[in-house]
Amino acid sequence: MAAVRTRWLLLAVVIAVLAVGSIVMVSNSDNNRSPDEPVAPGVTTVRWYGQAFFVIHSKTGAKFAFDPYATNENLAYSPPDVSADYVFVSHNHFDHNNVSLLSGNPKKIGPIEEEFKSGTAIVGDNKYTYTAVSTFHDTVKGKERGKNTVYKITVDDIRFCHLGDLGEPLTDDQIRQIGEVDVLFVPVGGYFTIDAKGAEKVVEQLKPKIVVPMHYKTDKVNLPIAGVDNFIDGKADKVRNFTDLVLKDKKDLPSEITIYVMKYRQGELPCQKNKK
Ligand SMILES: [Zn+2]
Repeated sequence: MAAVRTRWLLLAVVIAVLAVGSIVMVSNSDNNRSPDEPVAPGVTTVRWYGQAFFVIHSKTGAKFAFDPYATNENLAYSPPDVSADYVFVSHNHFDHNNVSLLSGNPKKIGPIEEEFKSGTAIVGDNKYTYTAVSTFHDTVKGKERGKNTVYKITVDDIRFCHLGDLGEPLTDDQIRQIGEVDVLFVPVGGYFTIDAKGAEKVVEQLKPKIVVPMHYKTDKVNLPIAGVDNFIDGKADKVRNFTDLVLKDKKDLPSEITIYVMKYRQGELPCQKNKK
């Protein structure tokens, strides 16, 4: 009975939300819907699983994952079983390149060796163009932490850009290569990446409509990185809190830069279930 009620409640929330606006908070962590499914048909859904790991679900059900991590005592997230059609890897560090975390046998893209590369991801009858831009994971031309690939992919006409572990603000060439961005996933935790100030600079450079901070300290992270507060302090009028990011239509993107602080999703991995 509770499950039925929850489902109806969710449906009501989704309908209300679709009626009111396109960018919506759907707090559906307590419903029966699989985290591997989109929030609702006909919307673009983005889910965050902590650190730099996101999955974008297209309106037609294509799934693009970014930077799945391996977990350990310092990165103690436990994501649910998630599948993807493609997985984009920014660089080969443990918290970004654990492709085996994903089911569905996704095609792996990157990290790239070239300075710039473009390509097309094909899922069913649909094509998704992406570009990859080589950047550095530090401020000394990669001497300390190597290279990092920035990806931009257009899904349902919305241009998403994932910065990976970007170590310094972008150069003019990189800004040109990336081009226009609607939704930006930006590291803000510092130490291994740009910090809150660096992230602000990159937001100025790319001028996205939506900024999603990532790679910051949460209760699951025991790494020397800062929490999200350094990035959002003093910006209360621009900050929204979401579980999943749900986009109905490109024309409904906010006109001013808006920061969407997402809630990381957790669940049991199949291997953990089997241990019981
Ligand atoms: Zn990292």
